[in-house]
Amino acid sequence: MSRQAFQLRKNSGSALSRTERDIAAIGVIFAALALFVGTGSSVFIHLTRHLLFGEANDDTILTTALLLNIALIVFGWRRYVDLSREVAARREAETAALRLADTDPLTGLENRRSFDVTLTRMAQATTHDGGSLALILIDLDQFKTANDAHGHKTGDTVLIEAARRAKVMLGVDAALARLGGDEFAALVRFAPGADARGQAERIATRIGAAIALPIDCDDTIVTVTASIGIACDRIAPDRASCDGFGEALMHQADLAMYQAKKAGRNRHCWFDPEMETEILERSRLEQGIRHGLRNGEFRPHYEKQVNLATGAITGLEMLARWHSPDLGVIGPDVFVPIAEEIGVMPELSEALIRQALIDAGEWAPHLTLAINISPVQLRDPWFAQRLLKLLIEARMPPHRIDVEVTEQCLTENLTLVRSLITSLRNQGVRISLDDFGHSESSMAHLRTLPFDRIKIDRNFIAGLGQSADSTAMVEAISAMGRGMDLAITAEGIESVEILDELRKLGAFRGQGYVYGQPLSADDLRTELVELNLLAVVPTPVPLTGDRHRA
Ligand code: C2E
Ligand code: CA
Ligand code: CA
Repeated sequence: MSRQAFQLRKNSGSALSRTERDIAAIGVIFAALALFVGTGSSVFIHLTRHLLFGEANDDTILTTALLLNIALIVFGWRRYVDLSREVAARREAETAALRLADTDPLTGLENRRSFDVTLTRMAQATTHDGGSLALILIDLDQFKTANDAHGHKTGDTVLIEAARRAKVMLGVDAALARLGGDEFAALVRFAPGADARGQAERIATRIGAAIALPIDCDDTIVTVTASIGIACDRIAPDRASCDGFGEALMHQADLAMYQAKKAGRNRHCWFDPEMETEILERSRLEQGIRHGLRNGEFRPHYEKQVNLATGAITGLEMLARWHSPDLGVIGPDVFVPIAEEIGVMPELSEALIRQALIDAGEWAPHLTLAINISPVQLRDPWFAQRLLKLLIEARMPPHRIDVEVTEQCLTENLTLVRSLITSLRNQGVRISLDDFGHSESSMAHLRTLPFDRIKIDRNFIAGLGQSADSTAMVEAISAMGRGMDLAITAEGIESVEILDELRKLGAFRGQGYVYGQPLSADDLRTELVELNLLAVVPTPVPLTGDRHRA
């Protein structure tokens, strides 16, 4: 039993004994009154005469009893009044406690506990009358940012205002609750035969639009949006029995809300049974990734990086592949975002880098190794130390390593990222800005961070010779690279024609399918042997006595 429930029971227990005490107090008063009436009438006249006219009072015992009776009545009455006051105060406190247990103190809305009760009650009612229900789950999108940026007081104002606006948009046959944090739930009841879906859709649209309007928070204006998931009771299982109905409806609205977030936030989505399959698929992938990480199923593949002028291989970019026994070979676009989300990306990346360093130890020493780093790794203040430790363990000179960061890595905590990049560069590691031109902030980043190289996004390269824009862009980047003394790599070169175009535009390095698909470590090794690009392993010299002395 919860502490609250226990407290409530305890309170109601003491209310019962108070009622008994009330009866006892009233009993005392009535007994005293009965005695007063019984003895009082005869004794009272004698007593009055004795007090007023000094006549002798021959009934002293009865007089004393009468006085005692009066005292008892006064005492009993006072006790009764005190007890009544105490009982009223306690009842008020109990009502307040009950209200608090059912209400969210900040917004005054129902809380999760009472919403569950409302959900069950409304489900029973609609089962009975043939009506229907829609559950609308509302989650604010940028609330955490607003809270962190402007403080908790502003955050509270945003929550209160969002709750108020949502409430205004709901009709009378609806309940609204704050489930916790920045999550709200509305339950709307529709009459039999009503267009529940159409109406719920309109309500969700109105709630979303109302919440998105700027919120005036005293000294600042905050704008948040909402991601909304809607589930309708028709799809929920066990409708008839109501067993687990509320939970199922909530689960479905939650999936729909997750979908709204995934689709870009600030929108609403309806639950679709396919979402269930997707979530199962996703959890299979999550488990697979964790398992694969333990089993060494993630392996580095390598893409050649070539000097376009000479055609010579200058280095290799490590691209991760997941060799899943169940799913086959999976690319990083599938597993990297999930690994980032479930928090295993740093561990996964370290395992891959460790393996890549072993592989690179076999290559000719002038070949560089490029590694891709995820934004989550650059949130770790110890990242530079970790990487340098791996290099020391593998006896790999830092100047052979090229760390590729995307602009995504530069969107948060730029100070930390700058210090990590600077400390890696001080150790001799080169830093490249990957997918350059992909975002509008590319130029700003180039000016503020010490990069060695930029890699032109493959979308511009693909358009070379076909789109004037792409050619102009590559020309401009080439000129800028010369001006800023930055080396340039063109990636995603798919054809000889593009290669020819690029050669006209400047002295680049390049990579892409024109040089073949990324290779496994073994396949790469075979190619490097043919090209005579493996490290020359010194033939062991026997330790003769003479050499030993020298
Ligand atoms: P990226 O760094 O831009 O890598 C180049 C991607 O383009 C690779 O895809 C590569 O296979 C593909 N590619 C190469 N040449 C061509 C071409 O001529 N045409 C086209 N259309 N594509 C080409 P992949 O291997 O699927 O990797 C995708 C992204 O995943 C990479 O993009 C990189 O950002 C990321 N990634 C790969 N490995 C890792 C890793 O170990 N850690 C992290 N954090 N990210 C990784
Ligand atoms: Ca890359
Ligand atoms: Ca790239």
